[in-house]
Amino acid sequence: MEHIEVIGIIGGGQMGSGIAQVAAQAGYRAIVYDTAAASLERAEARVGASLAKLEAKGRLAEGETAASVQSRITTTSDFDSLSVADFAVEAIVENEAIKREIFGRLDELLNPRAILASNTSSIPITRLCAATKRPDRVVGMHFMNPVPVMRLVEIIRGLPTSDETFATTCELAERLGKTTCEAQDYPGFIVNRVLIPFINEACYAVMEGVATAEAVDQSCRLGLNHPMGPLQLADFIGLDTVLAIAEVLHAGLGDAKYRPCPLLRKHVDAGWVGVKSGRGFYRYDD
Ligand code: NAD
Repeated sequence: MEHIEVIGIIGGGQMGSGIAQVAAQAGYRAIVYDTAAASLERAEARVGASLAKLEAKGRLAEGETAASVQSRITTTSDFDSLSVADFAVEAIVENEAIKREIFGRLDELLNPRAILASNTSSIPITRLCAATKRPDRVVGMHFMNPVPVMRLVEIIRGLPTSDETFATTCELAERLGKTTCEAQDYPGFIVNRVLIPFINEACYAVMEGVATAEAVDQSCRLGLNHPMGPLQLADFIGLDTVLAIAEVLHAGLGDAKYRPCPLLRKHVDAGWVGVKSGRGFYRYDD
């Protein structure tokens, strides 16, 4: 594997802070860049709280404390501080134009050997490759939420991604304690390609009066042994996010079977987007 010491993380939100935590726990130095100072403050607090819990449960590596792990994480709003990174993981807002711009800037700033990875859920990796002069060294590295807990990382090959880049990225994910799955660059990769139509079909079942949301979820919990029903899971993900990914599948694959359910769209129109808004398929008043 190519030598990696410093991991640059672009975006210190929910995902970026989790990626910084697992990188630091694995012994890497992590530099987290974000344009919003408030996000960086929240990231430090979130990582601090998570590491403190792990320390209390004796789950940190031998000889490590929450403080020693956290000391390997630096936060910054100075883009140039990323210049020392050997490997970059982008986890900013899910907007293609903004991501392409960041990839262009990273390409200018980082050592030409550095790999540029994206945590995008739905933007084609091949288009991010094309935003740089090192398309062979751009790759998808799709962590699941919450990053410190979830074991899977999908590694996505853009059309120009080299075998070496792919192998190094898999190895890094494994050093972060994750299990990898290889995916080609098609809409939704693996997890969302399977999950989003499942959730969408659950929405249709409710819309058509097949069953209530509660009955659909209970059937999947008890009948399929899923830990959580699809509509409750959708409320956790955010119905706006589910709809956005459904639109990507529909547009990118062009098959009517991916059309977003009108009831899903109606919930989003009403602002009932799930746990974060207090109401989705269920109510979260408290
Ligand atoms: P988030 O909103 O929590 O964090 C995004 C962060 O990016 C914010 O702190 C914001 O200030 C920062 N940002 C926005 N534009 C920036 C810029 N130009 N430069 C630097 N920082 C910028 O979002 P998130 O949930 O962490 O998602 C980040 C990425 O991860 C998205 O691409 C998303 O699709 C993907 N993802 C999310 C999940 C999930 O469940 N939330 C799961 C897998 C992948």
